[in-house]
Amino acid sequence: MTDDKKNQKHKASMEKQKANVDARIEEASTQRGVAILLTGNGKGKSSSCFGMVMRALGYGHKIGVIQFIKGQQLSGEEIYLKEQCPQVDFYQMGTGFTWNTQDRSGDIAAAEETWQRAERMLQDDSIRLVILDELTYMIAYKYLDEERILNALKNRPVEQSVVVSGRGGGSALQEIMDTVSEVKEIKHAFKAGIKAREGVDF
Ligand code: ATP
Ligand code: MG
Repeated sequence: MTDDKKNQKHKASMEKQKANVDARIEEASTQRGVAILLTGNGKGKSSSCFGMVMRALGYGHKIGVIQFIKGQQLSGEEIYLKEQCPQVDFYQMGTGFTWNTQDRSGDIAAAEETWQRAERMLQDDSIRLVILDELTYMIAYKYLDEERILNALKNRPVEQSVVVSGRGGGSALQEIMDTVSEVKEIKHAFKAGIKAREGVDF
């Protein structure tokens, strides 16, 4: 095929795609906040959450961030949001859940206290975006009551969006979310012995 023919074919295909997308954009008529679940075993769930935080910051929206697992080390997002962004209410579950925890009842108490903060955010219509990072583990480990979480997510203010991240989470959670994405691991640097990188992994 000549270059000219290839270019013509590409143009025709792009025009068709554009018409399809434009038609679907036209059809979407509901204006409300969305509930997003980011799950799966690959890298990119929490980073995607903070990508949305940055988007919302661009419009000056008020944001609530709760991390249900305390990172072993400080993260760039924690440093930046706490130090530079007064419009972001950033909270990390203080003690509690780590992979090698021995203190189940202590973890449950911390999860409960942290969840109460999340519930308050999910009732506050001045907050446009709520991030519940690693919340799925609280459901998986039965640290928090699933029904209570689902109800709070469902009953949040109409204009508020919420993003839940973490592996697993279960089908009931998936059911009530508007957007569910699974990040699939194809490969991960860690498995080739490459250390987690400041500014990339934390
Ligand atoms: P990130 O915060 O980088 O977006 P994530 O939220 O998708 O990652 P988590 O399960 O929360 O993934 O893991 C957090 C940390 O573990 C990050 O440092 C991340 O790079 C690393 N990590 C994520 N997925 C994997 C994996 N499949 N194998 C090894 N390490 C991983
Ligand atoms: Mg994560």
